[in-house]
Amino acid sequence: MFLIDSHCHLNMDYFKDDYREVAQRAYNSGVKSFIMIGTNYLDSQRGVKIANEIPYAFTSIGWHPHDVKDIGDSSNLFKIMKLAENKKVVGYGEIGLDFFKNYSPKDIQIKFFRHQIAVAKELNLPIIIHDRDANEEVTKILKEESAFKVGGVIHCFSGDLDYAHKVMDMNFYISFPGTITFKKNRELVSKLIKSIPIERIIVETDSPFLTPEPHRGKRNEPAFVKYVAEKIAEIKGITFEEVAKWTTHNCIELFRLNIEK
Ligand SMILES: [Zn+2]
Repeated sequence: MFLIDSHCHLNMDYFKDDYREVAQRAYNSGVKSFIMIGTNYLDSQRGVKIANEIPYAFTSIGWHPHDVKDIGDSSNLFKIMKLAENKKVVGYGEIGLDFFKNYSPKDIQIKFFRHQIAVAKELNLPIIIHDRDANEEVTKILKEESAFKVGGVIHCFSGDLDYAHKVMDMNFYISFPGTITFKKNRELVSKLIKSIPIERIIVETDSPFLTPEPHRGKRNEPAFVKYVAEKIAEIKGITFEEVAKWTTHNCIELFRLNIEK
């Protein structure tokens, strides 16, 4: 029985001096695997490098909606597609829409969201979705682009039960981060987690961001994914072991991870 952190950024500068120690701490605390997430070409490349160095690490590749304004011409997408030849690459993302921050213009976000879903389908990789304030548009685009063919996960899920059902129907999992340990929106979050079957849930840290209680204020790291699993167990009234068993199973299935359950 162990946990998997399905979404972390050990491939970012925040961890450049100590990612090996951070990975080891996760392993020692029962987080036997983690997936690094690409947000642009450079950290996708670094994810591949680290995943090749640490046997229990995997990575995704892709351009985050914040960064898509920097893609330029599509040769940068071809460059990133080349990385997928490495067998430690297990997903495509995080891609999607962020209409809260709008660091890239909306039309550019939409264009590259569609484009990158097509790339993920071509590479036959499940998709990691970043969606902020764009539930409706994301649903529409996933449907129009037939994203169900590869499926994926809505990371840091922020939406209601109706949205959850829509994406689950399209072959997507729901991922919860450390924010579910916060007091804010506790009732809403509890209701949502109770209503989503454990068979469709995976867990993540989004390290170094979104540090859960009781470590809020510090840099987040994959070892802390246990607080997310504990909270889900508490809300659903099931054991921690059951949450670990299911979320690990789901994550291995979704990303076709080459590890023993
Ligand atoms: Zn992320």
